[in-house]
Amino acid sequence: MGPESEREKGPRGTLIIVGGGFSGTLAALLAHRRGAFDVVLVEREAQAGLGLAYGACDAHHVLNVPVVRMELGLEPSFATWLQASGVDLEAALAEAGGDLSQAFVPRALFGAYVATQWEAALAEAQNAGAPRLRRVRGAVVEVRAQPMPGVVLADGRRLTGTHVLLATGNLPPKPPRCADAAFYDTPRFIPDPWARGALTALPPDATVLLIGSGLTLVDVALKLAAAGHRGPLVAVSRHGLLPQVHAAGGRFAAFLSPALAPTPRAGLRAIRQAVARAAAEGIPWQRVMDAVRPAIATIWSHWTQPEKARFLRHARTYWDVHRHRMAPRVADRLQALIGSGQLRVVAGRITGYRAGTDGVSITLRHRGGGHDRSHDRGHEEVRAAAVINCTGPRSDFATLGLPPFAALRDAGHIVPDALGLGLETRGCALVDRYGAASSWLHAVGPLTRPAWWEITAVPEIAAQIHRLVEDLADGTLSAPGVPADLLVDFVNLGAGI
Ligand SMILES: Cc1cc2nc3c(=O)[nH]c(=O)nc-3n(C[C@H](O)[C@H](O)[C@H](O)COP(=O)(O)OP(=O)(O)OC[C@H]3O[C@@H](n4cnc5c(N)ncnc54)[C@H](O)[C@@H]3O)c2cc1C
Repeated sequence: MGPESEREKGPRGTLIIVGGGFSGTLAALLAHRRGAFDVVLVEREAQAGLGLAYGACDAHHVLNVPVVRMELGLEPSFATWLQASGVDLEAALAEAGGDLSQAFVPRALFGAYVATQWEAALAEAQNAGAPRLRRVRGAVVEVRAQPMPGVVLADGRRLTGTHVLLATGNLPPKPPRCADAAFYDTPRFIPDPWARGALTALPPDATVLLIGSGLTLVDVALKLAAAGHRGPLVAVSRHGLLPQVHAAGGRFAAFLSPALAPTPRAGLRAIRQAVARAAAEGIPWQRVMDAVRPAIATIWSHWTQPEKARFLRHARTYWDVHRHRMAPRVADRLQALIGSGQLRVVAGRITGYRAGTDGVSITLRHRGGGHDRSHDRGHEEVRAAAVINCTGPRSDFATLGLPPFAALRDAGHIVPDALGLGLETRGCALVDRYGAASSWLHAVGPLTRPAWWEITAVPEIAAQIHRLVEDLADGTLSAPGVPADLLVDFVNLGAGI
């Protein structure tokens, strides 16, 4: 053990967590509370607890999940903390009819809540003398199995422990395919709208082309508008579908099971039938989607690889827009941009870019459908000052060159899944190239999507982390199967999602 190497020894070992966004920070808090490990949280940014979703957001970015579903099993609860914080919740409460549990509050508040919990736990641990909870600031560039599980930071520091947990979350977006990839090298292309300062240099009257029409597009369009952008915004995606809107009220009991959804086709038919039943009773279809949620991971794990591929090819877009919805006042703001003509959503694809000194000329091939039918199946030339990639976080690791993943993959410690969704895991343990579940390397959050499918939002990730921490503490590591049952506890916290 040299000066650069620290051996962390805890009651049952030391858990090194790579990434202190929402997932890593919650894992650190729960593992510390459970007392089975000394915990070291490694985060490259200054503040732990925020990550991409709750750090890179402005005041007008609102959670797409109500307060009750953002609860994490911590004390104080999110709702109690919100009430005590004295922040202005007027707009959120007005929208929710005064019911805080069903309110969609600004995303930054959830980040502040998690960060506050973290800072309090850290301070308490430090006051206790030999701290069993530590924060290390740095970027992990290497994860090692030998001689002890551990990590190497970009500045050369090494940390060793007994377990490493990858909680690195959302990868930067991947550039969409385009005929002339040289376009990506021009300053006209903004590859990652979340990168610091990515949107600040856009002239306010310029036309901007946005690739994608999901929640990232919604965030970016609202961010540009709030920053005073007046120029036209043209969003293009294959289907031109925007996320649907939340609706309050009604209840629909859980009904979907692997037996009812042996294939994607059967599952979607069962959902459509349930939506019809709900409509007959005056219950919004949103409650049916909510009722489906606890069963998703189990159903997904029962599907064969070709069935999963079929679902992704034919149903993913429709699934995503119904499952990941906007808060009503976000939808209102977006609708205002569309209504004023500033934002236009095109269903189609980009067939060419020509970058010049004063802008870029983009050729769009229309699909027909979507919000804009005026150029049915034709071509359109858009002259824009910039093109922003709003396709959302990248998920495939097969060709990813980013440390520490490339070396882990090349050494066979991690295996990207064949569908490009993330990394192969069993019970959150990384599966190696021989198909064995690791006893020391685990992952949580979006990285584990191949086993879970829906592991995007806080309720599912929180359930996953609660289960993993219990498993790690009990020494029941690498338990095979998807721990979907725990979702029920978290998902059924309230009527609305
Ligand atoms: C824009 C956006 C809005 C969302 N809104 C909602 C919502 O309203 N409700 C909801 O339930 N869900 C929402 N989600 C989904 C979900 O909450 C997030 O995906 C979730 O926060 C994932 O957290 P994470 O910690 O796994 O990943 P991230 O937030 O991506 O955090 C990963 C952390 O790891 C760090 N890191 C990465 N690599 C390294 C390294 N090598 N060394 C050290 N540190 C590293 C990063 O700096 C980062 O802090 C949203 C997601 C996004 C992207």
